[in-house]
Amino acid sequence: MYRRTWCEVNLDEIEENVRKIKGICGKKLIAVLKADAYGCGDIQTAQAVLDAGADMIAVSSLDEAMMLRNEGCDAEILILGATDPDDCATMIENNITAAAYSMDWIEKVSRNFCRGLKVHLKVDTGMNRIGFKDKDELKKALEALLNAECDVEGIFTHFCCTDTDPSMTDRQFARFKEAVEYLNYPFAWIHCDNSDATIMFKDDLSNACRLGVSMYGVSPYDKTLAHPLSLYTETAMVKHVPAGETIGYGATYTTKGDEIIATIPIGYADGFIRANQGRKVYVDGELCEVVGRVCMDQTMIRLDHEVPVGTKVEIFGQHISIESMAEELHTIPYEIMCLISGRVTRVYVRNGEQQSEMNERLQKSESE
Ligand SMILES: *Cc1c(COP(=O)(O)O)cnc(C)c1O
Repeated sequence: MYRRTWCEVNLDEIEENVRKIKGICGKKLIAVLKADAYGCGDIQTAQAVLDAGADMIAVSSLDEAMMLRNEGCDAEILILGATDPDDCATMIENNITAAAYSMDWIEKVSRNFCRGLKVHLKVDTGMNRIGFKDKDELKKALEALLNAECDVEGIFTHFCCTDTDPSMTDRQFARFKEAVEYLNYPFAWIHCDNSDATIMFKDDLSNACRLGVSMYGVSPYDKTLAHPLSLYTETAMVKHVPAGETIGYGATYTTKGDEIIATIPIGYADGFIRANQGRKVYVDGELCEVVGRVCMDQTMIRLDHEVPVGTKVEIFGQHISIESMAEELHTIPYEIMCLISGRVTRVYVRNGEQQSEMNERLQKSESE
């Protein structure tokens, strides 16, 4: 890394969260590492969560599954989303488990020599995204998969309102339970809980949980989790600007008096979106306002006291939580995490030490 703008991923704390949540739920654990592990780096996160006792990894697509395989991950991998039935052979060859989510998909994989393909049946209990809604159709799907000699390893559904509406979760769970009991098949994996449900919803049916965002400490239900992610940059230039001058594109901010303005090398191309104008970042004990428009690569902030060039600036982390940042930006922590672009170097902390840096385009993954 040459530019001092980085996302710190503390793998020790991810492990700590996974162990803790596994202790709470007492079930098998599927770590959801889609979207490059919510932007944290899929292979690095995979190693940490597997060390912490995760039993399976889930991703959103065959591309993501193959990225993990190409990086040497040999854990069980489940694809939660849609797949192309024509890719059946690739999934079998690479021991990747698919979601079976529609009759059309099952008919097409059946014509594609799917013998031995591992699948988890997806039940739609209210999300209306993918999956079987009708239990008779689900039964036909199971029979068709068994006829085609697929290995029907699991069954799952996904809750839509675990953070807002417990009665919706109850209704969805009741539909899921009814479907599983109706099929009366010895599934090895039965799972419905996302992060929130893993912590606050108890059931007597599922034997596995799917953890995503809670591994990163984001949970409305458990405020004791560690926060392993932080986004930092450093001041690149610090100057005094006299009263009456404007800052940045569109001249949207005018200095009221003599002001100390620092320029930081982060912008919307890093995922620090333009809506951050007017928000605060943390520098040397104070919260400093983002003044003027956020540029593609740079941003200006107003300081109360002068700091040297190279002073660390926290975008989110110990002093500004990702949850509060999300709230101020009218979004959710997931989106903020996923928006941190590939240009931002990820710095991994493991065993209490900074272990490696990762920036794909720089092709650099070195031990310090
Ligand atoms: C993303 C996802 C999860 C994980 O959700 P979190 O809220 O991050 O725990 C679980 N299951 C499915 C199907 C998902 O798409």
